[in-house]
Amino acid sequence: MSKSFELDLSTNPAWMSRLETPVIMAGPCSAESEEQVVETARALKENERVSLFRAGIWKPRTRPGNFEGIGAEALAWMKTVKEETGLKTIVEVANANHVYEALKHGIDELWVGARSTVSPFSVQEVADALKGVDVPVWVKNPVNPDLQLWLGAMERLNKAGIKRIGAIHRGFSTFEKTPFRNIPKWNIAIELKRVVPNLPIVCDPSHICGNRHLIGTVAQRALDLAMNGLMIETHPDPDNALSDAKQQITPDMLNDILAALTFRQPGDVPETSLLEVYRSEIDGIDNGLIQLLAQRNEISAQIGHYKQEKNMTIYQVKRWDHLFEDRIRRATNLGLDEQFVKDFYQMVHANSIRIQERIMNKAAQPAAKTKKKKQA
Ligand code: PEP
Ligand code: MN
Repeated sequence: MSKSFELDLSTNPAWMSRLETPVIMAGPCSAESEEQVVETARALKENERVSLFRAGIWKPRTRPGNFEGIGAEALAWMKTVKEETGLKTIVEVANANHVYEALKHGIDELWVGARSTVSPFSVQEVADALKGVDVPVWVKNPVNPDLQLWLGAMERLNKAGIKRIGAIHRGFSTFEKTPFRNIPKWNIAIELKRVVPNLPIVCDPSHICGNRHLIGTVAQRALDLAMNGLMIETHPDPDNALSDAKQQITPDMLNDILAALTFRQPGDVPETSLLEVYRSEIDGIDNGLIQLLAQRNEISAQIGHYKQEKNMTIYQVKRWDHLFEDRIRRATNLGLDEQFVKDFYQMVHANSIRIQERIMNKAAQPAAKTKKKKQA
């Protein structure tokens, strides 16, 4: 996609700072009771990295009959959170009524959920309800991996006058079996960053993972890929949560995850930085490696012709055994990892065998055919 896609985003310094300082949103999947909401928020407030308190008020459940959220009544609890903890609040909106109710109760920021982003009608309804309102809106990726649909939703909001727009990367539904509930497909988030560089993008490892175990790893990956923050579902008693129980973590677990993360430097790398120097050295070394591998292939081909002429087997056990041991010894003496060297040489050897096979079989086939004819 060309870089020409543009959103007219706010240049307000407070909003722009979200590109510099990681935005951490945390809170339960669903608001379940005033006690649960306030208890979670009190614990989260102790972590200075957490700036936004999330809770689902209306829940888009896959099947009817599951807990579908408390509804507008829970918005008053969010107000209590704000007053008691000073945390800003954010809720999901999927229609005009949600928008009116949320704004009426002083909710600070809104997000559009993955199941709404797929529907231009829903997004347009939310956008129309927001005309003339100055509130930040975060847009989750659509459930299907379609960057255009994600961009289109943000464009609709932007056209309605919303300039503080952010994106939330929560992974994509898939029929394939993977370790994730929603596969991340990082390339889509990376491409979004490339086409709209000044758009804050927050990663939601909770919905990507669908379980507690991978959250830290996915969160680190997001930070390494220059994402601007995280949204992590947090509940005082995750096992008994009324929605997304498997993926929610306690505020204490969140503290541990955040403490273990490496928050890297934002911004572009200047041309002359040390990193650029290292990168050009790596480029030169890789170029040398590729040339050497090509030369090695040429020699393998010569060996193939030789063995063909002498009617030798391709695989020469003693030679391979000697070569393998020798290369491992040399490489480990230089500090290379033994397993890496083994894997690498097994690949190199297999490639050499393929080259020789092609040569020897090509030379052998016509002779075999002639012989068969004579016999017949
Ligand atoms: C949520 O954040 O609880 C939620 C419903 O997420 P998503 O829209 O990503 O499925
Ligand atoms: Mn959830």
